[in-house]
Amino acid sequence: MKRDFEQVKRIVIKIGTSVLTKSDGSLDKKYMREIAGQVCSLAKKKKEVILVSSGAIGSGVKELGLGTMPRDIPTRQGAAAVGQSILMEAWREAFRKRGAKVAQILLTYDAFSNRRTYLNLRNSMSNLAKYGVIPIINENDPIAVHEIEATFGDNDKLSALVAAKVDAELLILLTDVDGLYDKNPKRKDAKLIPEITEITHTIERIGGEPGSWRSKGGMKTKIEAAKISVKSNCNMVIANAHEKNGVTRILQGEEVGTLFRASKNSYTNKERWIRFSKSHGNIKIDKGAKDALLRGGSLLPSGILEVKGEFNESEVVTIVHNDQEIAKVIVDYSSEELLKIKGKQTDQIEKILGYKNYDNIFRRENMAPI
Ligand code: GLU
Repeated sequence: MKRDFEQVKRIVIKIGTSVLTKSDGSLDKKYMREIAGQVCSLAKKKKEVILVSSGAIGSGVKELGLGTMPRDIPTRQGAAAVGQSILMEAWREAFRKRGAKVAQILLTYDAFSNRRTYLNLRNSMSNLAKYGVIPIINENDPIAVHEIEATFGDNDKLSALVAAKVDAELLILLTDVDGLYDKNPKRKDAKLIPEITEITHTIERIGGEPGSWRSKGGMKTKIEAAKISVKSNCNMVIANAHEKNGVTRILQGEEVGTLFRASKNSYTNKERWIRFSKSHGNIKIDKGAKDALLRGGSLLPSGILEVKGEFNESEVVTIVHNDQEIAKVIVDYSSEELLKIKGKQTDQIEKILGYKNYDNIFRRENMAPI
């Protein structure tokens, strides 16, 4: 199908460490200037561009003379703190040469999962857009807490979440390969897949393994990012960062890289918010409850087998059956309350707690299926 990105207004471009850094770990400033040039031409056409830039840890590793990517989290976090300013200095310089200004935004998963910080983020971004400033986003690595779902994990996912949350219509992942191949790209008969309309198990399988030490994600995390994008009504393109004028040509509809088409079955705005927020805990349910959920019902306390984590009423939690995630929901009861009423009949809620918020554990409109 023809690619038509003429009307696209908001674009997120993610650039990986393996693209931004040379083999000795130093930043590829020539490349950064080239990207700045393309971004500035888009901005002139009234397109809003947001960059997601990796390369902080890599730059810190080089600055500190560590030689190779450290495995332990404190050293990585330290390297990120050192490298982030080096990275931004280079971006500022690259854009300054084109007469444009940049802003640094460092995010944690929490910033997205808290409605207030999220709204603040949106406000600051639209203000920056008013001044024609290009936001450059990275994960706030030095303070990110490395526990389940507390970090984005990699900038592929971060960029997809940014795209989803700011309602971007296009996400471009610039990397060191031409796109997704139908088999190992080192094989002679491997063919580039120009377009993917459905992320099947086969597509996930050919995504394969994570990349080199200088790139965190590889294809695997890019496919995870695609799953978020396409369900958020956002097209995603994986393209080779060194394609001449790649970004501009993608925007002109040229068939560069692999396009993951936005799904016709995208989440609504509310579902998107719930689905991509940090989960504060798990509610394990039995088969009957799972079937009822899938038939369009909600969840009664009698269907709950186990409650994990500590959460308050109105926080996002994950509904799980047999280790399979079924949905994310905004709960109407806290974990403390649920521990008391799990497995019980609805008419006992009031007797046990002394009050009843709702019959169901959450309202159906507050559920995003997984
Ligand atoms: N936030 C990391 C950095 O700037 C990058 C993570 C990634 O490449 O996915 O070094």
